[in-house]
Amino acid sequence: MKFGCHLSIRDGYLGAAKKAYAMNAGSFQYFPKNPRSLSVKDYSEEDAALCRVFCKEKGILSVSHSPYPTSLTPHSDEKKIQVIDSLLNDLEITEACGSIGVVVHFGKHASHLTLLESYQLMIELLDETLSEWEGDAKILLENSAGIPGTMGTTLEELVQIRRLCEFPEKIGFCLDTCHAFSCGLWNGSNWNDVLEKGVALGYFDQLEVIHFNNSKYPTGQGKDRHAPIFGKGCITEDQFDQLVQTPELAKLPFILETPKEEIPHEKEIQMLQEKWGI
Ligand SMILES: [Zn+2]
Repeated sequence: MKFGCHLSIRDGYLGAAKKAYAMNAGSFQYFPKNPRSLSVKDYSEEDAALCRVFCKEKGILSVSHSPYPTSLTPHSDEKKIQVIDSLLNDLEITEACGSIGVVVHFGKHASHLTLLESYQLMIELLDETLSEWEGDAKILLENSAGIPGTMGTTLEELVQIRRLCEFPEKIGFCLDTCHAFSCGLWNGSNWNDVLEKGVALGYFDQLEVIHFNNSKYPTGQGKDRHAPIFGKGCITEDQFDQLVQTPELAKLPFILETPKEEIPHEKEIQMLQEKWGI
């Protein structure tokens, strides 16, 4: 199993890859640039290329995560242009680092738009971005946390948005286990139904990465608060066991975004490997 965690690029992209290797991780996630801004980064191509070679040599998989202000349903045309430029920059860095794709949160119901218009804006933004992108790195749409019914919380929506885009082959998915639990998509005891539905929809064929997180709050409350995998969250070890043992997920990177002040990630990765093998 390719267990890993989110890592800082304080020491560059190669530095993050080396850190993952030193932690005995099989995968990692990183912010391609400042996570609080949409400014385009003039990155070091050399550092990114070294990261790509190192990961290939060591068999480490990676994904990047778009900065926090990235919204697929922006409130103005000006912000929309910023998001597209930023996403193209993220994709370029992601490709240069040899990563699978850049994780992007599903859009939200924009206050100035109807729900239908919000989906339309999201598709428009994805189309405009991907019409300018020729690389192999994909946009990886992440399922949302939220009360049941919130935008981006069902497999049907994820699959349908991808299908309605002009370049579906450039879009994959990221499944966040805490978000799925928060919105009741996976309530801890219906994994077989989720799996069956996902297979029928073709969701699992496009799933590229798992955000592997426990939840501090019970299912259905819509709260996005991550907890360590073992012992401290509302998802039990047996419930995780069912998910981790799913053959459809066996080759995917499992990335921890758990609070490392509660358990250091190095220790948590070791616990995952002891429980579910390397
Ligand atoms: Zn996540």
